[in-house]
Amino acid sequence: MSFKVPRGTQDILPEQTPKWQKVESILRDLSRVYRYREIRTPMFEQTELFQRGVGDTTDIVQKEMYTFEDRGGRSLTLRPEGTASAVRSYVEHKMFGSPDQPVKLSYIGPMFRYERQQAGRYRQFVQYGVEAIGSADPAIDAEVISLAMDVYQSVGLKDLKLHLNSLGDKETRDAHRTALINHFKPSIGEFCSDCQNRLEKNPLRILDCKVDHEHPLMQSAPKLTDYLTEQSSVYFDKVKSYLDVLGIDYEVDPNLVRGLDYYNHTAFEIMSTASGFGAITTLCGGGRYNGLVEGIGGPDVPGIGFALSIERLLLALEAEGIELEVEDALDIYVVAMGEEAKKKSVELLSSFRAKGISADMDYIDRKMKAQMKSADRLGAKFVIVIGETELENGSVKIKNMHTGNEENLQFEELVNYLLENK
Ligand code: ATP
Ligand code: MG
Repeated sequence: MSFKVPRGTQDILPEQTPKWQKVESILRDLSRVYRYREIRTPMFEQTELFQRGVGDTTDIVQKEMYTFEDRGGRSLTLRPEGTASAVRSYVEHKMFGSPDQPVKLSYIGPMFRYERQQAGRYRQFVQYGVEAIGSADPAIDAEVISLAMDVYQSVGLKDLKLHLNSLGDKETRDAHRTALINHFKPSIGEFCSDCQNRLEKNPLRILDCKVDHEHPLMQSAPKLTDYLTEQSSVYFDKVKSYLDVLGIDYEVDPNLVRGLDYYNHTAFEIMSTASGFGAITTLCGGGRYNGLVEGIGGPDVPGIGFALSIERLLLALEAEGIELEVEDALDIYVVAMGEEAKKKSVELLSSFRAKGISADMDYIDRKMKAQMKSADRLGAKFVIVIGETELENGSVKIKNMHTGNEENLQFEELVNYLLENK
């Protein structure tokens, strides 16, 4: 019997983790700079939270959730996204009562969706996201968008495109909905069964269909932007003007409708335009969700957020040929010849590590040459070789493997030397 990772999941091996850690540290840093404080919620929630928070008619709820019954007979679901949980926690902990408004949250962690496996689509993937809850100021829409753009720019990506749309308010959506039904109804038989179901329940979602997106009626469908109420239109203009102030380019994309049910007003996606990125080019999606907090039992409070996956960010880096600078090198490798020398090495390693100097040695009784090779493979910056002579003299030659430079030092001098030179 041999075991493999479950389909759609991956092991991130020690060679790859430095890259992940680097991205994660950039994300944490940006969250700090924009002041979106981290929230950590459970990886599973009551199933109903997602049914209500993500929406019954979405692909996520209809096809992609990992739902199970626990031993107490409760229906639980591995979280497929982070917004519903963040908002649940916001309501449960009455964050709307805090004097600091809006409440700005960020999260990072694995999400689970039963997806068809393909490049850029996993069944477990890591999302970073933010939520700003408690403000309907278009300036915060621009802040959220600029944070998302900043993520990609901070890792060095250049081939990016920001797609922007407004889904308007309720009045906009109702008028548009009627127009959509009239538009699609006569030919709905030509569409997939999902779309047929969507027609009455949530016709907007037809525009987001992955099966029928080439159908000619899609391009000619009534556009939300033509139905914006005066108020929605003013709101949209303000968001755009703040983006102009920030120097962020965007393209208004009237066909952009987000997959989740609770969006209104601002919706955006960031795409990679790198050649060779593959079929799925969306790196990040977000938007405003003014009805969500109330929809899951809180007060009528507006919100906006986005989510992106680290997997797709890394794919975009690959597509642009960008190598992140990561720290994975070893400061010093200690080669020991003989039992006494080994004791000295153990002692030295402990003194190095106590000062934050990364250090390693041989534990499988290799010959000197093999130990040197090992030091090389580990990318050790310095190497010392301890044998009888060194023990007698209490000093050792330390070699800088990058420059070839060697210096003779007393054992006691090593720590300071390394702190200054590593
Ligand atoms: P898509 O249309 O690609 O299915 P979505 O609308 O389901 O995207 P969201 O729920 O908005 O995506 O998630 C936000 C971001 O999370 C996406 O833009 C993408 O970067 C990432 N993402 C979504 N699903 C996956 C997945 N299965 N594997 C890896 N990343 C994902
Ligand atoms: Mg999806």
